[in-house]
Amino acid sequence: MNRMDLSGLNEQQRKAVLRTDGPVMILAGAGSGKTKTLVTRISYLLEELHVSPYQVLALTFSNKAAREMRDRIGSMVEADVGALQITTFHAFCARILRSEANYLGLSRNFTIYDTSEQKAVVKAILGRHGISTKEVSPFEVLYYMDDLKNHGHYLGRDISECDYEIDQGDSFFTFYQEYEAELHKANAVDFGSLITGVIQLFEKFPDVLKRYQERFKYLLVDEYQDTNRAQFELVKMLSEQNRNVCVVGDEDQSIYSWRGADIRNILDFEEVFSDAKILKLEQNYRSSKNIIEAATHVIARNSQRKGKDMWTNNPHGEDIDIVECFNDKTEGEFVAQKIRELSKEGHPFKEMAVFYRTNTQSRLIEDNLRKNNIPYRVVGGVKFYERKEIKDLIAYMRIVVNEKDSLALSRIINVPARGIGATTLRKLENEAVTNNCSLWEMLDTVVANPENYKHIRLSAKVKSALSHLVTLINEVRVSVDNVAPSSLYEKLLHESGYWDFLKSSKDYESQARMENLEELQNAIVQYEESNKSPSLLNFLETITLDTSGEGDNPENTGEVSLMTIHGAKGLEFLHVFVTGAEENIFPSYKSLENGETAIEEERRLFYVAMTRAMEKLYITFAQGRMLFGQLRFNGPSRFLHEIPNKYYQWRKPNGSTMSSGNSWDSEDDFDDYNQDQSYDEGEAVYQVASFKEEKSAPKAKFPKGVKIIHSLYGEGTVLDSSGYGAEEKVSIKFSDGARKKFLVKFAPLVLA
Ligand code: ATP
Ligand code: MG
Repeated sequence: MNRMDLSGLNEQQRKAVLRTDGPVMILAGAGSGKTKTLVTRISYLLEELHVSPYQVLALTFSNKAAREMRDRIGSMVEADVGALQITTFHAFCARILRSEANYLGLSRNFTIYDTSEQKAVVKAILGRHGISTKEVSPFEVLYYMDDLKNHGHYLGRDISECDYEIDQGDSFFTFYQEYEAELHKANAVDFGSLITGVIQLFEKFPDVLKRYQERFKYLLVDEYQDTNRAQFELVKMLSEQNRNVCVVGDEDQSIYSWRGADIRNILDFEEVFSDAKILKLEQNYRSSKNIIEAATHVIARNSQRKGKDMWTNNPHGEDIDIVECFNDKTEGEFVAQKIRELSKEGHPFKEMAVFYRTNTQSRLIEDNLRKNNIPYRVVGGVKFYERKEIKDLIAYMRIVVNEKDSLALSRIINVPARGIGATTLRKLENEAVTNNCSLWEMLDTVVANPENYKHIRLSAKVKSALSHLVTLINEVRVSVDNVAPSSLYEKLLHESGYWDFLKSSKDYESQARMENLEELQNAIVQYEESNKSPSLLNFLETITLDTSGEGDNPENTGEVSLMTIHGAKGLEFLHVFVTGAEENIFPSYKSLENGETAIEEERRLFYVAMTRAMEKLYITFAQGRMLFGQLRFNGPSRFLHEIPNKYYQWRKPNGSTMSSGNSWDSEDDFDDYNQDQSYDEGEAVYQVASFKEEKSAPKAKFPKGVKIIHSLYGEGTVLDSSGYGAEEKVSIKFSDGARKKFLVKFAPLVLA
């Protein structure tokens, strides 16, 4: 029998592959071959130990990672890899719940509710209690329930079994009970209860658990550092019998604590599996020596880590380029130009990636890539101009400039809701066909002479809403040649009711949509600034033509990947651009007042970003950036100053070097730099002035120690506070002694 060739592995990796029986935990830094070891271990089980693929369960964090793992195993073994269970925790649990649905009184065609559906259920429950969404935001309730579920709680679970403090007398607990009952009635589950549902199933029906324990002889978990407590329990239950569990992770890459990831899972592994073999991998195969050493220096600043040594045999490689751009626009231009250059030198687009801290940052980068005809794909997100809210507002602008654009009108005629259902829209469209006119003309006519169109049956309310829409479009149309496109956009956004509609929904999604619409405003302002005679028509044309260049890729070398750093976990690229390395962005403004723990998570994220690069790392930041419609001056990220000088060149976008990282030390330097860049003097002066004003970071609304009043629970004192803005969380002790946690954004709190 040919033994599988393991010569491509180092000693430690081989040990991890060969130690097939008993618990194993591999803790190792980025690029040290953890995933490769997992993949080889599975191949070894199949090929050498003739384990049936049916008996292997590998859990990863994304569908993409699962697919890649399966492909890699497929190329190494003869066995049928289709039978391997390589999947995410959620998909795995959904599958089990469908198979065993009857045990929990579900039917197997249950629906999985997304956030908007969850929210609708909570809203109805609050309504039944006579509580308005102003008093208690549905999202506050969702946050509470998520937290419970991340900790493994399901209704009816013995509280002592659950690793969480629960007050069953709390009104939120009542909402939770009612919510679960509603979901059950609707034969639905949410994301959190996919996991807790399986825990419940296994606890209540030990025979079912036994069946799965017997089936899955080998369990493997990648990115173990980002599992939450509920997932940990699941791993524990499934592997209790065989104990052939292998988890791999890196505590320096734990970046999901906000979704309940719990670092204790690493510490507790050794406790639960006392015979666990702990292996360390210290050689990095991914990145150049320069990148590894630089990243190691940055992460060494974290106090909450065990610490590890990393080394590589890879060549020293090029210095990191830290690129100081004048503003976000020049940053986008730099990235696109550099990618063009690299492509001309023969580097395929698919070897390049651009990362950003949050999704909204992708717009300018996308604009520039499109302008340069560079093919790209946004991983794990929707392209900016394809987002629903952006398309809606573009449709508003389109119907203004071209009244025959019926598609645009039909898109927005009922957005926000004006009481026009699909049937009424169809009647209007049919009438337009009969009268041989556009939908707009038809609408205009119907609104002007409703008595002639009684058969369309519009209520007085609908008629008035439509009349308002027609008036708005007509007003904007009249001023289209003499008012700036950005002002027209603003009028459409606000007077259509679109903005208020998003504002009143108050959920995370609407918040993100509002930010995107502000980004669209920024795009129009920037367009106006760079065009002598800007017009709405021309703006629309520019973005349409840009989009049509997309995907046109004669070189057929794939696409540049754009993604958030969270989405980049586990991946590697030859050339990496980390953009927006500025205070308030990366580290995020939310983390800045959250104390050292939050900064350390941001630093881990920065470490993840740096360690994706194999050969060349560019880190860019902008001196000034449009954020939420305002010009901001954040200064370079603290993480840039944590990279020792010898690992980077501090450059301008044109490639010339600057003395590293000191351009923000004084205003004089800042002025010199602007003159150096020969920017318009007025602009430079304006920027220095704003810089002074805007440098201080925002503060928590309810800091520790202050007295508050909650509309439901009354008076209390803030015991603990973390974060600010949308992420501010508080723990409050009320006058009756009860302690509760809230997300400030959703809680009806005022200072006492
Ligand atoms: P991350 O922490 O980012 O998930 P990782 O530890 O999972 O990283 P892998 O993605 O498995 O690391 O490996 C990083 C790169 O190093 C891959 O290109 C892999 O093929 C290569 N590699 C790993 N081990 C070896 C080895 N022994 N010899 C040669 N190349 C290796
Ligand atoms: Mg990996």
